[in-house]
Order: sequence, then C-alpha cells, then structure tokens
Amino acid sequence: MVYGELGRYPMYIDVTCRIISMWCRINGENKFDRLSNVLYNLLLAMQDSKLLECKWINFVKNTLFKLGLGYVWDKPNVSPKWLIAIVKLRLIDAFKQKWYSDIYANDACINYIIFKSDLSIEEYLIKLPIKQRQLLCKFRCRNFNVPFGIFSDHIIPTTCPLCDKSDIPDEFHLLLDCAFFRYERNKVIPGIVANTYNLNKILKEKYHKLHGLIKMIIMLSKAY
Ligand SMILES: [Zn+2]
Repeated sequence: MVYGELGRYPMYIDVTCRIISMWCRINGENKFDRLSNVLYNLLLAMQDSKLLECKWINFVKNTLFKLGLGYVWDKPNVSPKWLIAIVKLRLIDAFKQKWYSDIYANDACINYIIFKSDLSIEEYLIKLPIKQRQLLCKFRCRNFNVPFGIFSDHIIPTTCPLCDKSDIPDEFHLLLDCAFFRYERNKVIPGIVANTYNLNKILKEKYHKLHGLIKMIIMLSKAY
C-alpha cells in the first residue's frame, strides 16, 4: 500500500540498473584497450575456469537471463542507453505484477483494491495540509482505529459494535453504511449511497473535494 500511495518503485530497481550500466560501460564497443575491460575479462576467465566466484558477475548474468536478455550477455555490444531502458522497464513490469497480486491476495487490502487500481502517487499527499494528509493516508491504508483495524488478523468481527448490523465493521461499512453515523454522514457527504462505486469515487476525489470525507474520518476516529 505504501508503494501504491506514493507511486514509487523499490530501490533495488535503480541499484540493478546502475550495476548493469556499469557492466555495459566496461564491456561495450571500443573499450577493449581499457584497464577495466582487461581486468573484467581476466575475472571472467578465472570464473569460467572455476578459480573464483564473483558475485557481481553472477548478479549481472542472472539478472540479464531472468529478464529475457540472455543474448546481451553473449553479445554485449549494445547501446548502454537502450539496455538500461529495457532493464528498467522489465523490472518495473515485474514489480507491478507482484504488487497487484500481493494486494489482491492480502486480506488487509480488501477495500484498498476497490479504490486503488494504478500504481501512481495520490494528489492528496501533495496538496492537503499535513494533518489531513496523515489522517486520510492512515484511513486508506488500514492503519486506523476502526474496529476492523484494532482486532487481530485471526479474529474478524462479523457484527458492527455500533449499529449491531451483521456486517464486517470495515472502512466501507463505517463510511457509507453504519446507522450509528447516519446523521453525521448526511451532514458532510449528503445523498451518498452505500456501494463500492461510491467508496471508489469518494476516496479518489480531487483534493479540494475531500473536506466532507475528512470530517467523516475525524468523527469515526473519535468514536473509538
Ligand atoms: Zn455499524
């Protein structure tokens, strides 16, 4: 969820790109008379003869093969710019696939997947005042003192302690459906109907339209 809200990628992607870039620069065209290239080839020959094991060489080779670029390892005379661009793209694609499968598999993200569909920074993190930003971020990322959040993962309540409805008291229920907050809800977000479309809509609103939602979240936080 942190990556999802910030639209950032893990640091290993940049680190891997830098390592591949360095390998490409040592190994590229017109580098055969460079000391770095001579030493690299010596290291490679020693590794091929099983005289030593170089973790850096193994990392470069394994990364290229893992990303479907094994032919570059065999014939490294490619443009460094092209190679870095394609390595970065494939690492980001692999990370995005893992991110999507992780949030779909994690019970804690059951509401998050309703309103978060792309890995890009949320405008509210830049434009809202710091306190409102923190509050909304905690609510979206289930780091909030709603009943669902304060119970352990093994005990999921099936009845709302505030309105006694047989429903999981999660963000969706409290924000849009809980009878306990009906009066306050009608005041700050009037006419809202409890469905997943509205949860998606309200949590993806532009920052200047979020004041009603912020007021509602403050009320929810005070109820516990
Ligand atoms: Zn309720």
